[in-house]
Amino acid sequence: MNLKDLRDEVFEANLRLVDEHLVILAWGNASGIDRDQGVFLIKPSGVSYAELEPGRLVAVDLDGKVAEGTLNPSSDTATHLELYKAWPEIGGIVHTHSTYAASFAQACRPIPCYGTTHCDFCPGDIPCVRALTKEEVEEAYEKNTGTAIIEDYKNNNRSPVEYPGVILSRHGPFTWGKNAHKAVENAVILERLAQMALLTRRINPEIGPIPEHILNKHHMRKHGPNAYYGQKCANSI
Ligand SMILES: [Zn+2]
Repeated sequence: MNLKDLRDEVFEANLRLVDEHLVILAWGNASGIDRDQGVFLIKPSGVSYAELEPGRLVAVDLDGKVAEGTLNPSSDTATHLELYKAWPEIGGIVHTHSTYAASFAQACRPIPCYGTTHCDFCPGDIPCVRALTKEEVEEAYEKNTGTAIIEDYKNNNRSPVEYPGVILSRHGPFTWGKNAHKAVENAVILERLAQMALLTRRINPEIGPIPEHILNKHHMRKHGPNAYYGQKCANSI
């Protein structure tokens, strides 16, 4: 199993979470998947970022079994697994407890779409996924966290490509992308959007969502079939 390039990429993605001030201590994890080999690499559980090395990342197969590595994978591995299984279009996942996003999550409120910065990320509020029931927590907390995210997207007819991140009630954000680096980038954006939304509401508590015609214009110029923002091939998750 040659996963060298993916190891380097997922290792760098994990370190970047600290550099971007999204993670302190060991409060987060990044993973990336090799779809051909059917395994993803994820941060080992409880290992500090200072002690992390590419070779210490744990390879997990799509049955949730450790395929390579001696350390235990992140305690959130089952959530990553559910998302990878449900959404073949994603290649990397990030979870953090970044301050502003986690604050919206703890308040059980979606992150409202107030401006065009947000429209470029997704076409509406960043969803706040319901809290799990007592039974779901006791049965399989991390797996059912993934199930709740997927259920939310199904029920609301959302695509994981259009909405590359959520916050979990009382918890924090999960983001994803075509690879681990893109998932980190989306975590950076989501955190900044949460911060901007909070400041916006503080400046004007009466402000409503951005008007639909501006939202659609901004989202489609970056992500629509006739997108013209940036360079060719820039329009992917
Ligand atoms: Zn967490």
